[in-house]
Amino acid sequence: MDYGALADLLFADVREQPDDIEALYPPRNLPEGAKVTRMAPSPTGFMHLGNLFSAIADERLAHQSGGVFYLRIEDTDLKRAVEGGVEKILDVFSDYKLPFDEGATLTGDNGPYGPYRQRQRTRLYHVFAKWLVAQGMAYPCFCTEEELAATREKQAALKENFGYYGQYAVHRDMPFDEIKAQLDAGTPFVLRFRSDGSLDTRVKFTDLVKGPMAFPENDQDTVLLKSDGVPTYHFAHVVDDHLMHTTHVVRGEEWLATLPIHVQLFGAMGWRPPKYIHTAQLMKMDGGSKRKLSKRKDPELALDYYKEQGYCVEAVKEYILTLLNSNFEEWRIANPTEPLEKFPFSFKKMSVSGSLFDIDKLNDISKNVISRMDAATVYDLVLTWAGQYDTAFADLISRDPAYTQAILAIGRGGNKPRKDIAVWADAKGYMNFFFDELFAPDDQYPQNLSDDQVRAIIKNYRERFVMHGDSSAWFDDVKTLAGDLGFAPTMKDYKNDPQAFPGHVGDVSMVIRIAVTGRQNSPDLYEVINLLGAARVKERLEKAQNKLQ
Ligand code: GLU
Repeated sequence: MDYGALADLLFADVREQPDDIEALYPPRNLPEGAKVTRMAPSPTGFMHLGNLFSAIADERLAHQSGGVFYLRIEDTDLKRAVEGGVEKILDVFSDYKLPFDEGATLTGDNGPYGPYRQRQRTRLYHVFAKWLVAQGMAYPCFCTEEELAATREKQAALKENFGYYGQYAVHRDMPFDEIKAQLDAGTPFVLRFRSDGSLDTRVKFTDLVKGPMAFPENDQDTVLLKSDGVPTYHFAHVVDDHLMHTTHVVRGEEWLATLPIHVQLFGAMGWRPPKYIHTAQLMKMDGGSKRKLSKRKDPELALDYYKEQGYCVEAVKEYILTLLNSNFEEWRIANPTEPLEKFPFSFKKMSVSGSLFDIDKLNDISKNVISRMDAATVYDLVLTWAGQYDTAFADLISRDPAYTQAILAIGRGGNKPRKDIAVWADAKGYMNFFFDELFAPDDQYPQNLSDDQVRAIIKNYRERFVMHGDSSAWFDDVKTLAGDLGFAPTMKDYKNDPQAFPGHVGDVSMVIRIAVTGRQNSPDLYEVINLLGAARVKERLEKAQNKLQ
């Protein structure tokens, strides 16, 4: 067989040689040790935690080493691609502040190693596919779906491995004339790799996280180009990661199964493969046992979920770093206010087995992260979220920004900041009573007090109410009121002789709190009263009093 003639027959319009293409993608001019990583999502419209997990590792590995982090859109599978899929990918990475140095953007491509969308790289794949045909390493296969299905049935009956290999690779040695006749007749074909691998030969491979491993060689004649000339993932990623000079590939461990194909293709092309990190599946606890996070069962797998609930980007990133690097939490305790970029990320600290995703832990981290922000930042972020997901609330809190920020400033700063908000959606429940529109009075007063006692506390507090400029003066009033109504004015008095009092100053202030805020838990009551202002406090006391008549 004249393979050169076959290559010309199959790719008549491909004139360039591999060297011509290589010349367009010269080695990158980067410092020693700089890593080149990429995100290579398919535009399916579904972005999940796994995408973010790899992206954070990729971004850190590249930028920490003075390298390049780029975005390549893997859109070869038209059945999975959806309208707006690329925008969605770009949105997610911009939300999560994972800046690409190169790659696809909304307005085209940015960078010298493009195009960065695989569908626009067909010409490049064809040059290398043609070269493989000319070397006798690839050939056209005209098998129909039905023929392949029949082969599969036969293999099932004989308990043989499935696939296109050995005696089942029926078009492997089709004579030139026959190929030509099929092409002339317009018969569709795929281009297959001619594998010389044997399952009896083991290939050694080292994953940077999973360590050394060995697996049988690939013996299947893998499809390189589909019948529309578009490459498969296997072929496209080999060509792209070579030309774009990727040094490290971080991808899900579901790709381990086809790694033998990738190793084989790099070898056939005479190229050095990048280093691989196959990341473990994200797991969750479900009824006492661990299982993989599932798209169908677990809404928290989708990144949309975090956006809708109003998770703050910093918190999600911080939590993912705790999963990615086992020493992150320790570092965070020692460096509570450093930006995440200061953490020395290392693939050596990545976990080999599945990471356990725990949303409660994320919520805790999130509360901590938000408690360290200043009120103006929290205000901006709550407003941005509400502007998209709760516009009535957004209108309310932006009516008087200074007022809302003053609410958010209560208990902020200092060594023990309040931790009421885990997601932006919590902000409404936390501060609704500051807005008359959302204030919901509560009549669950402390059980140990009679209605008469509650009534007396509210009535007297209302009559005597004055605003104070400091909290101890305010609290002195409450103590005096407690004493005048027969309650213990201090906890110490109460503890010394509990039988002597119907209750203590804490009970009195709880009644005031419930009357003013409509709830038993609220931020510091003195600050709340000051912010609500005398008129509103008196009005609420009056309403509470009337309700008890
Ligand atoms: N397009 C593949 C995916 O979305 C990329 C895998 C890789 O990073 O190589 O799973």
